[in-house]
Amino acid sequence: EEEFLDDGCIFCLIANEEDKEAEVIQRSNELVCFKDICPAAPHHYLVVPRKHIMSCLLLNKEQIGLVEKMAEMGKDVLRARGVTDMNDISLGFHQPPYTSVDHLHLHVLAPKSQISTLF
Ligand code: 5GP
Ligand code: ZN
Repeated sequence: EEEFLDDGCIFCLIANEEDKEAEVIQRSNELVCFKDICPAAPHHYLVVPRKHIMSCLLLNKEQIGLVEKMAEMGKDVLRARGVTDMNDISLGFHQPPYTSVDHLHLHVLAPKSQISTLF
């Protein structure tokens, strides 16, 4: 587990601690999806790797597959929650310094027209 989790990282905790299991909507061996605590749209989820990756700026070509799986899990959760129009969703990363949690997380929002203008 060395280099895998970061002590004191809230997303490491949510993704890996049993007592945080209730927050998790969907999981695979390398990813979890949970609700954003401060939703900016009727559907707002975060998909994170269980491993502590600090930022999208540190991703390399070998991790394209991981990012694709993150997007797939996000769309899966939306579908499971009744979203049918996959052209009316928003998926994306915020880039440092415009981030508040230093653990890679894909924002998954729907519908597009109801995303808060403050987001
Ligand atoms: P960003 O860093 O991409 O700008 O935003 C981080 C996102 O994580 C925010 O949308 C914020 O509401 C969400 N967030 C921050 N802390 C927590 C937390 O403890 N639990 C959950 N579920 N979401 C969080
Ligand atoms: Zn972390």
